[in-house]
Amino acid sequence: MRVLIWYRNDLRVHDHEAIYQAVQEQFEIIPFYCFDERQFGFTSYGFPKTGKFRAKFLLESVADLRQSLESLGGNLIIRRGKPEDIIPQLVQELQIAKVYYHQEVTAEELAVEKAVNKALSGVPVQIKTFWTATLYHPDDLPFTLNQLPELFTNFRKQVERHWQIRATYPTPKKLTKLPKIELGNLPSLNDLGLTESILDRGGVLSFQGGEMAGKSRVKEYIWDSDSLKTYKETRNEMLGTNYSSKFSAWLSFGCLSPRYIYEEVQKYEQTRVKNDSTYWLIFELLWRDFFRFMCRKHGNKIFYKSGLQELYLPWLEDWERFNLWCEGKTGYPLVDANMRELAATGFMSNRGRQNVASFLSKNLGIDWCMGAEWFESLLIDYDVCSNWGNWNYTAGVGNDARGFRYFNIPKQSKDYDPKGDYLRHWLPELALIKGDKIHEPYKLSPEEQKRYGVILGVNYPRPIVDFFQSIKHNEKIYLQHFSEQ
Ligand SMILES: Cc1cc2nc3c(=O)[nH]c(=O)nc-3n(C[C@H](O)[C@H](O)[C@H](O)COP(=O)(O)OP(=O)(O)OC[C@H]3O[C@@H](n4cnc5c(N)ncnc54)[C@H](O)[C@@H]3O)c2cc1C
Repeated sequence: MRVLIWYRNDLRVHDHEAIYQAVQEQFEIIPFYCFDERQFGFTSYGFPKTGKFRAKFLLESVADLRQSLESLGGNLIIRRGKPEDIIPQLVQELQIAKVYYHQEVTAEELAVEKAVNKALSGVPVQIKTFWTATLYHPDDLPFTLNQLPELFTNFRKQVERHWQIRATYPTPKKLTKLPKIELGNLPSLNDLGLTESILDRGGVLSFQGGEMAGKSRVKEYIWDSDSLKTYKETRNEMLGTNYSSKFSAWLSFGCLSPRYIYEEVQKYEQTRVKNDSTYWLIFELLWRDFFRFMCRKHGNKIFYKSGLQELYLPWLEDWERFNLWCEGKTGYPLVDANMRELAATGFMSNRGRQNVASFLSKNLGIDWCMGAEWFESLLIDYDVCSNWGNWNYTAGVGNDARGFRYFNIPKQSKDYDPKGDYLRHWLPELALIKGDKIHEPYKLSPEEQKRYGVILGVNYPRPIVDFFQSIKHNEKIYLQHFSEQ
């Protein structure tokens, strides 16, 4: 009997329940990946849905998956088009009896699942779905997803009391050979309508897609460099390879399973050290779980401007300022450095993401969904739940009960980049500014500007808004609307 394994964001062979089950059942396994043309369209504000950084990572991940499957005796069928058109053809051509896939939780992915199910409705084939993306399996939570606590802390405390994380599924030792069929080639970036990007050597890491590269990043971060033991102290930095794990891109495509990381952390705790840092990495993975479960609970609310709180604020669609934000030309070095890093590499630290998102929504009052879509387009680690969940949270429309909170960007800059190294790295025009002054170039006197080679309004922009006045203005709007609801 043949089973089609429809690969989606689970591009691996380790801890892969669908493959594991099919091997146990002694079925002939037909792994399949579809480059869905809709994933390469445009977001509602007109940005490429999958930009060049993520597309490259995806191509590498699919190539790596094919290689892993080949080394086990199998292979991967690759197609371009719509899964709901291609899967029924494969089912018929190969006389497939079952289709297995891992579930997703958000609208576009669910629509594809629905279309596949519909297309297969008249066909004698059995469909079975599995859950894989999170550390916790929803069935093991101490509450149903409908009763999921709205605040992260409440969620974390309840799940931590149980700590029921399933063991990883073993990687199969051998797969069945594929029947005679056109395997299909991996498309190129050009085929997907994108152009190759030149690797920016200033990036934190040259991210290489695929399970093999993901596992070697785990080895490097946790074991070889021993960086895990100081994660809690370094995780808020912005410059360098090992201040944080950089596991996110591999997690987003499922090249790494969170349970695999959990087991590695456990081994590390047993053989090297168990401390606040080892706990904290798992704590961060819980945020990832939380947003995914939230999306499952609240459906499309996470994508609406009004967010999970259903707060109807009069967001601006100011393209001129939005473009300055995207290009890293706001006149606030911390924002500009981070936005330029994102544009050049597809990555930005968590500290950076929080600050730039706060600036867009709390200082500029610009529709946070424009920012979320810009991130969606560029981030190499874009994860629909983590991205939209975090944007909800930072824009103040998520389930964060603490009202109008903003990041004091000049202060954050001094706290998290005390020597200004990060700013100098991404903003060469400010590199000669000495000491603390780099954080607030708009305070430089004309003499200082001359001395440091920075001419405000000429080679570095003046601030596009006054920091505290803009905060006050947007806070007033927020409070007004909040009290009117
Ligand atoms: C506005 C905004 C948008 C974001 N968009 C994404 C996104 O599209 N994809 C994404 O994976 N993360 C997103 N994050 C979360 C976080 O910034 C990244 O996961 C993290 O920076 C990735 O780097 P790392 O792997 O080195 O993280 P580490 O600090 O090493 O953390 C380990 C892992 O924990 C998870 N994690 C850490 N922080 C968070 C968080 N706040 N929310 C959810 N998971 C978290 C990630 O899977 C990460 O790989 C966003 C955060 C903000 C503020």
